[in-house]
Amino acid sequence: MSNRYDVLIIGGGPAGLTAGLYTARARLTTLLIESYTVPSQAVITDLIENYPGIPSGISGFELMDRFKKQAEQFGLESIAEDVTAIEKDSDGWKVAAGDTVYEALSIIIATGARAKELGVPGETKFRGKGVSYCAVCDGALFKDKEIVVVGGGDTAVEEALFLTKFAKKVTLIHRRDSLRATKILQERTLANEKMEFVWNSRVTEILGEGMVSGVKVVDVKTLQTSEIPYKGVFIFVGLVPNTDFLKGVVELDESGYIITDEEMRSSQQGIFACGDCRNKLLRQVITACGDGATAAFSAQKYVEELKGV
Ligand code: NAP
Repeated sequence: MSNRYDVLIIGGGPAGLTAGLYTARARLTTLLIESYTVPSQAVITDLIENYPGIPSGISGFELMDRFKKQAEQFGLESIAEDVTAIEKDSDGWKVAAGDTVYEALSIIIATGARAKELGVPGETKFRGKGVSYCAVCDGALFKDKEIVVVGGGDTAVEEALFLTKFAKKVTLIHRRDSLRATKILQERTLANEKMEFVWNSRVTEILGEGMVSGVKVVDVKTLQTSEIPYKGVFIFVGLVPNTDFLKGVVELDESGYIITDEEMRSSQQGIFACGDCRNKLLRQVITACGDGATAAFSAQKYVEELKGV
């Protein structure tokens, strides 16, 4: 396997795999490097119901498996490594991943985003000991237990619903009096008998000894605090882009998302970005796919121009 490619894609979620499908079909030599430590958000999603053409819904794992097989069928190569650095080379870019340095004329960044931490005492201490950011990974550990979900967006509500399959009771704690999540998800959650809601409240500490035993909560209106016993705390309070290794390489916004134009061009010639890691309005599988296809086409034009095609 040569270490020199036309296009190097970093990230193996829907954006990266779609980009890989398109560059492979454009007959550009392409290597996709997916992280082996940070999974794509799609892969750890229990059920994706809003991907058009699959009315019964599909697990994120299966959908991504299908994406990968389809791209590989057209010649996409892929490896699992964590990229640590990107450097400008004479006519392209050098990318360090594991013990190897890869070279490419163009790079497509599709590293996605990961769950944001709440930032309260006890959160780090009890991570993996009752604190989780992944319902699909850890939900089954809480069979017949009472657990809490923090957050009010699509992820919190969807994952809370998934957790009702295992838990005796799921209490959603939200800092406001209404959910941010898509209406249909709100309706389902509010109607679910295993769900309870604590509105206008913030979790200020995660309590326990060895394992989580509860949370300390403050009512943001009355400022009254209380301690509620729970065995598990699932935190879904938004996303952080996986772009730490790109500081000083491409322009990022104040939250760390990559700034691109509508052709997915970053501030560096030859580097494109797509999916959840870029500054954009809507983070969904379907928008990641659209971004991926556009980034691939832009990279194709760029590489062909470099080669004088
Ligand atoms: P999000 O939409 O940013 O929502 C984060 C939630 O956490 C909000 O309700 C926010 O409260 C709350 N929050 C933020 N910081 C907090 C803090 N420090 N303490 C307490 N609560 C806090 O994040 P997300 O739900 O992870 O979704 C991310 C993106 O993925 C969105 O674009 C979403 O639409 C998309 N997504 C889509 C689907 C789907 O289509 N089925 C599924 C999952 C995710 P406020 O509401 O008060 O701001």
